[in-house]
Amino acid sequence: MILAAAQAHLEEWTQTAVLYVRPQAVNLLLGKERSFSFDISGRPFGAFWEGMTYRRGLDNRWMAKWSERRDGRRARQRRWLKPEEARSLLERAHRLAEAMRVKVLDGEARSLDGDPLMDEDRERLLPALDRILALDWEALEADRERFLKVYKPIGILPPDQYLALVLQATEGCWHNACTFCTFYRDRPFRVKSPAEFEAHIQAVLEFFGPAVVLRRTIFLGDANALVIPFPRLMELFEVMNRQLPIAPGGSETIGGAPWPSARSHRFSGVYSFIDAFNVHRKSVDQWRMLREGGLRRVYIGMESGDDGLLRFLNKPGTAADVVQAVQRLKEAGIAVSVIILLGAGGEAYFDAHVQGTVQAVNAMPLRGGDIIYFSEFVEQPGSAYIRLARATGIRPLDEDRIREQERLMRSGFRWQDPSSPPRISLYDIREFLY
Ligand code: SF4
Repeated sequence: MILAAAQAHLEEWTQTAVLYVRPQAVNLLLGKERSFSFDISGRPFGAFWEGMTYRRGLDNRWMAKWSERRDGRRARQRRWLKPEEARSLLERAHRLAEAMRVKVLDGEARSLDGDPLMDEDRERLLPALDRILALDWEALEADRERFLKVYKPIGILPPDQYLALVLQATEGCWHNACTFCTFYRDRPFRVKSPAEFEAHIQAVLEFFGPAVVLRRTIFLGDANALVIPFPRLMELFEVMNRQLPIAPGGSETIGGAPWPSARSHRFSGVYSFIDAFNVHRKSVDQWRMLREGGLRRVYIGMESGDDGLLRFLNKPGTAADVVQAVQRLKEAGIAVSVIILLGAGGEAYFDAHVQGTVQAVNAMPLRGGDIIYFSEFVEQPGSAYIRLARATGIRPLDEDRIREQERLMRSGFRWQDPSSPPRISLYDIREFLY
C-alpha cells in the first residue's frame, strides 16, 4: 500500500529519484541500483548502494553485506561499518532526501504518472522527508542511547523475526552452559514480574512511537522465555494482550490512515525460543491456551539429532526430547522451527550428526508453516567449545564439508505429508542485528 509517491530528476546524480510513503515505511530510490529505507519516524533501517546491501540496527551499528566469487562459488560476505563509514552513508541518504524535498517544495516533483502533485500528497511527502532529515548522526546516536536503556542487549533472533517487536519477558538463558554459545554470558537468568513486564512494554512502545507499525510480530525474549512456569507465563501473556492487540488466527491487519498508530496496529502473533527439554513441563492444553493468547511459532535449537554430539555441546535434553516437544507443540496447533547446527563437532561427529539429525527430523510431524533452519556453526571466541574441540583434535569443517553435510541431511529428509513440506532455510548468526 502506498500513501503518497513522487518522482523527480536530481541533477546531482543525473538520475530520477522516487519517494514512496507507505503506512509502515518510507523508501527513497535512485534509479534501480540505489535505495534507502526508513521507518515512519525517519530511522534508516536498510539501504542498497552499488551492489552492497546495508542494514542498520537500533543500536546504530551498520552492517554491509555482499556476495563474491570465492573458490569457484558465490559466497556471502559481511562486515560491520566503521562509524565514519556509517555516517557517510547516512549523509548520502540525507543529501538525497534533501534534494527530493527541494523538488517537492519547488513544484518540480511529479506523481508517478507524471502529473503535478496534489496538495494531500505534498502533505504526506514533506513531513516524511522532514522526519528523515531530523535524524542526523547525533540524533541517531541519542536514539541508540534510548534503545540501550529500554533493552538488555538482544543476543539473537531467528532470521524471520529480525523485524519483530522484541519484548524481554525474561533476561538471559536459564541453562547458559552450552559450550558453543556465549550470547547471554553477561547476565543471570531472571523472569520479570507482571508489573515490570508491563512497564517494559510501555517503555518499548514509547521508544518505537508510531514506527512500531514496521514490527509485524512480537518476539518474546530472551533465550527461552517459554520456560516460565505456566501460571506466570499466562499472566505475562495477559499483560501483553492488554497492551498489544494480536490478530486472532495469525492474520494481520493494519488499520488507520494516513499514519496508523500503535493502537490500530495488529500484531500477527507471538514467537519465541524454547529448548526441547522444557516443552513437556506444560500440558497440551496449556500450550493450547498459550496459542489462544497469540503464540504462533516456537523455535527449538535442536542443534543435532545425535545424543553424543548433544553431550559434547552440553545441550540439555536428547534428540528424543526434541521429537516429543515438536509432537506436543503441533498437537496444540503451534507451528515449530527446528534449528540444526551444521558443522558442529567437525569430522569426529560428521556421520553421526547427519544420521541422527535425519532420523530425528523424519520422526517429527513437520509441515507447511514449520521451518527447518540450517545454522552454520560459528566458533565463538572465548567459548568452552573451542577449548574442548582443540583438546580432542576437532577442527572446524571447511565450506565444502559443511555444504556436503547440508546436502546429505536434505536428501535424507522425508516429510509425513509431502504435499505440504516445511520450509528449509539458512540461518547465519553473523548477520543478526536488531
Ligand atoms: S544455545 Fe540456547 S540453551 Fe544453550 S546456552 Fe545458548 S541460549 Fe542457552
